[in-house]
Amino acid sequence: MSFSELGLDAALMRAIEREGYTTPTPIQAKAIPEVLAGRDVLAAAQTGTGKTAAFTLPLLQHLLTNPREGGKAPRILVLVPTRELAAQVGESVVAYGRDVTVKHAVIFGGVGINPQIDRVRRGLDIIIATPGRLLDLTGQGVLDLSKIEILVLDEADRMLDMGFMPDIKRVLKQLPAKRQNLMFSATFSPDIRGLAEGLLTNPVSIDIAPRNTATQLVDQRAIFAEKADKAGLLGFMVSRGNWKQVLVFTRTKHGANRLCERLEKDGLTAAALHGNKSQGARTKALAGFKDGSVRVLVATDIAARGIDIENLPHVINYELPNVPEDYVHRIGRTGRAGAVGEAISLVAHDERGYLKQIERLIRQTIPVFVIEGYTLNAKPGTPGEADDRPARPPQRQGQRRPNPPGAGPRPQGRGGRGGPVKPQKSAEHLKGMSRKVH
Ligand code: AMP
Repeated sequence: MSFSELGLDAALMRAIEREGYTTPTPIQAKAIPEVLAGRDVLAAAQTGTGKTAAFTLPLLQHLLTNPREGGKAPRILVLVPTRELAAQVGESVVAYGRDVTVKHAVIFGGVGINPQIDRVRRGLDIIIATPGRLLDLTGQGVLDLSKIEILVLDEADRMLDMGFMPDIKRVLKQLPAKRQNLMFSATFSPDIRGLAEGLLTNPVSIDIAPRNTATQLVDQRAIFAEKADKAGLLGFMVSRGNWKQVLVFTRTKHGANRLCERLEKDGLTAAALHGNKSQGARTKALAGFKDGSVRVLVATDIAARGIDIENLPHVINYELPNVPEDYVHRIGRTGRAGAVGEAISLVAHDERGYLKQIERLIRQTIPVFVIEGYTLNAKPGTPGEADDRPARPPQRQGQRRPNPPGAGPRPQGRGGRGGPVKPQKSAEHLKGMSRKVH
């Protein structure tokens, strides 16, 4: 399947060429013809599969082939869970719609409402919004949703996780009954299925990535590390691997701040991205990360939704998420659209249960590696984890910690299955730092 077979307007074909896309991704090949045919679509597609273009391109095509009959009210509504995702969809509309006369607005909370009101009053074709601020605007009588022809619910699973269900219902009540609906979700809980049943009419189901399966292109690793050693280990890997762009996940906002401070102390440029940061600080952190002035971006799960950075090479789970599905979302930040990426999880002793849950969900065993020169603190009596060397403090960045004479790196056991290690070829991506233990 090539883009030229999709029947898209020349203006959109030029945009596709400008973006450097040669072939549609599987979700694009399947969804674009259905959306153009006016069908409702239920798509299971994770982030990184090209799903944004899969709906943005046919939305633009719809506007081109069906000119507005009058009025100023928006014709297409894209509902998203986070500001970052809203901004990213907005960027896609700009990129693909450069040669199309289309007016769009990106609407989210946490910033002044007045410029958004002005924007809406001037007239819109596409509105991309998080539910809360959208309802503020309709509540103030500024925004009329009665002319919506197509509704897109993007990352519907995350919207429900974030408690947006009541808001979504309030938005739906304001939409005309006759409209086309597109729903995208990475996972399909019973709640999501319920929402889809109420929302979609005779939908086409498109299932791209097998459900809850981590992207095959992501090289996944786990490293067992004590909590106290993780910051030093992370700094060591970033410096030693000469990694330029690393996205690190922590479970909490405070954890993100603390880790940033520590990395900065170790001489690495780092910024935190989480919900307590002002919109300005979040935009600045993201811009710095994209232009290379921030080497390590430390984010919480919710804040990281919607971050789109092409070919992000390294994702680190500084702490494993306690919701296994979040692991899939996190590692979806790398290995996007055909690029190979790697995701490394630093797993403390009390996180091994989470690792097991994740492995069950993705139906894969994540290989465990050791970093040469780093050792796991002994947990007396735990089979396979004994290490008679004293734990050493994490080293300062830039220096490789030497192995003490006669105490070469020891295998790390895994759930009591530790044992002698056959040396294996070093993982290329860790630049000789690590070796597999099973
Ligand atoms: P998404 O899943 O929408 O977040 O898209 C992930 C990334 O894939 C974005 O950086 C897009 O620019 C890129 N992308 C989308 N479609 C294609 C394509 N057909 N070929 C190559 N890259 C693409």
